[in-house]
Amino acid sequence: MTPTIAQVALPVPLHKTFDYRITNEMPVVGGRVRVPFGKQYKVGIVVALTNTSEFPLEQIKPINAVLDSTPLWTPSLYKVLNWASRYYQYPLGDALATVMPGALRKGKPAVKDREKCWQLTEAGKEQPLSALTRAPKQARVLTLLRQGAMTHSDLLEEELSATILKAVEEKGWIEAIKEQRAKPWQQSYEVVEDKPRLNSEQAMAVATINANPEFACYLIEGVTGSGKTEVYLNLLEPVLKRGQQALILVPEIGLTPQTINRFKRRFNVPVVVMHSGLNDTERLNAWLAARDNEAAIIIGTRSALFSPCKSLGIIVVDEEHDASYKQQDSFRYHARDLAVMRGHEENVPVVLGSATPCLESLHNAKTGKYHHLTLSVRAGNALKTQNGVLDIRGLYLEAGLSAPLIAEMRKHLSQGNQVMLFLNRRGYAPALMCHECGWLAECKRCDAYYTLHQSSNELRCHHCGSQRPIPHQCGSCGSTQLISVGVGTEQLEAQLETLFPEYKTIRIDRDNTRRKGALEAYLNAIHNKEYQILIGTQMLAKGHHFPDVTLVALVDVDSALFSNDFRAPERLAQLFVQVAGRAGRASKPGYVLLQTHHPEHALLQSLIHKGYDSFAAEALNERKMAYLPPYSYFALLRAESHHSGEVEQFLHQARTVLDASPIPEDECAVMGPAPAPLHRRAGRFRWQLIFQAPNRKILQQRLTMALPAIRQLPLSKKVRWSLDIEPQDM
Ligand code: ADP
Ligand code: ZN
Ligand code: ZN
Repeated sequence: MTPTIAQVALPVPLHKTFDYRITNEMPVVGGRVRVPFGKQYKVGIVVALTNTSEFPLEQIKPINAVLDSTPLWTPSLYKVLNWASRYYQYPLGDALATVMPGALRKGKPAVKDREKCWQLTEAGKEQPLSALTRAPKQARVLTLLRQGAMTHSDLLEEELSATILKAVEEKGWIEAIKEQRAKPWQQSYEVVEDKPRLNSEQAMAVATINANPEFACYLIEGVTGSGKTEVYLNLLEPVLKRGQQALILVPEIGLTPQTINRFKRRFNVPVVVMHSGLNDTERLNAWLAARDNEAAIIIGTRSALFSPCKSLGIIVVDEEHDASYKQQDSFRYHARDLAVMRGHEENVPVVLGSATPCLESLHNAKTGKYHHLTLSVRAGNALKTQNGVLDIRGLYLEAGLSAPLIAEMRKHLSQGNQVMLFLNRRGYAPALMCHECGWLAECKRCDAYYTLHQSSNELRCHHCGSQRPIPHQCGSCGSTQLISVGVGTEQLEAQLETLFPEYKTIRIDRDNTRRKGALEAYLNAIHNKEYQILIGTQMLAKGHHFPDVTLVALVDVDSALFSNDFRAPERLAQLFVQVAGRAGRASKPGYVLLQTHHPEHALLQSLIHKGYDSFAAEALNERKMAYLPPYSYFALLRAESHHSGEVEQFLHQARTVLDASPIPEDECAVMGPAPAPLHRRAGRFRWQLIFQAPNRKILQQRLTMALPAIRQLPLSKKVRWSLDIEPQDM
């Protein structure tokens, strides 16, 4: 029987689909339709075709337009997306809208808008150029096109205007054609660059992974500079040779021209880049090139994982430990986990690489879920960095710097080298205090102190973004004796300028790299040695190599050792190893120093003396004892409202619903409601419920059973709430 009804997932925050009547054109499952919704039209995805509905046919509105004649995604990717929507408890229509290019979301056709091209006519081919000495631009058009057709925009880039092209067209010398579909890249695939001979560990990794073109997950643990990228390039060879595509994920900050160029230089195949900076047309074209196998290599950040690929051969996730793989709002997926899921569905190998794998991945390697491959030697004989702990107990600190650190800095600077300091705290000082009575300037909308920003002369709240002028008087006793408490990067910068007036200091943090291209410009200036002292938050630690930096110091590691966030020590260890790997070169080994009041701390000791692997083994052991991930799985139900009582009540009701559901308590624990770590933010009171289960299945069962009833609670419509499955920040 021909289906009469389409079930459509729409981009609305509701966990259901909507029925629409099929008119003359038959939609496809996985393709888009435009449908009336309330007073407007919406673009949605058809998830099923059927003949039955709970509504009488005459009440069902007809589809307004069928937008696709084929599904947008391959069946395997579509399956992954459906799974992700269920697992992350995010409405399917919203999830699908999130992962499709903006142009498709707006209903544009899913076909490449091929550009206008110009070619010579017979008359144009014969026209003697010597007759055009007084029209040099026109002559140039003919000269360029005699080498072959060119696109309109390429001609404009040759400093020719649309007016000139029009004039030449009117003379009958050139004509417009639609851009030709390029010859399939598979026909001319070649390795076009001389490549280094792999060392034995690299060769072993390549051979192991290439031995099996089917799904398996590999964890390549290799110190920075050990040649992981070189391994990826070698893995791509047989894939591309078979005519299949490679999907490469990189962290947000790692998508540099250098990385992209290494893939472009090695093979003569089309490479597309996917990141948040693309406009609608660029994004759609990249997406279509991936879908139609016109792009052989797709490199991109987190969301590039959702590029459909007609013929996928391998997935690589570089710097797999990076926090940017987790989406932190709306559709809170983890791109690394979904990459493994996708590899499984598409039956292709998944390669995770890092110098500092996350504990979850190491655990998977240990338990045999992943194959563990190690690259232990730095390519090009680079020396290993030295490191040391600076015990600062009882020492006088100048803007957080101890005398031994300052002396060490002076030594390195006087030898013509660069020095890099890390401090993960923006601003001048984390608080402003009254010296008379102890009053602290507090954000009115958050349970947090204002950060003092001296350069912009204001107090700023890092949680809600509100700001105000620096007060001259205490808000409690009226005293004018206000002092700053603690040290931020701005203060460190000011102090260094006083301590080392003969050297130039540069600070790199979110405050001064907002402008597009700013970070790139600073990094270039650093490479040109325009600055000798570099101060940064962790954004400086990623993806950049600093060959002239010979001393790296972590100014304050204590806050990470004693943080409430159980992942803080892991992140500190990753930062430590990453910065160590980025500094120095063969002739100039790097030296890494940590300032701490707890030099005897066990995790610090094993990190310093035995390296990341020992640290990770001990940290995993601690997680096991404490029943923390990867030995258990968390979910967080966050809720917030201007009325504290309302949120609390909502979560109490949710808790009652959960307690009534049949899974025994010891299988999936529910904790709370409890105030969230920052209880009040931007004027809203925040509460949370924590779920903890021994595995993903139980966690998901528990949530799936209770959520429909929770969504029915009247308060669920009054408070803002969301679910974060396997949250990264708790
Ligand atoms: P990673 O990705 O682990 O940081 P890369 O692949 O970027 O390491 O390698 C670091 C440097 O060493 C690069 O300049 C690369 O060209 C070079 N390199 C990698 N493998 C080899 C090798 N087998 N022989 C010589 N040089 C190599
Ligand atoms: Zn605030
Ligand atoms: Zn006071």
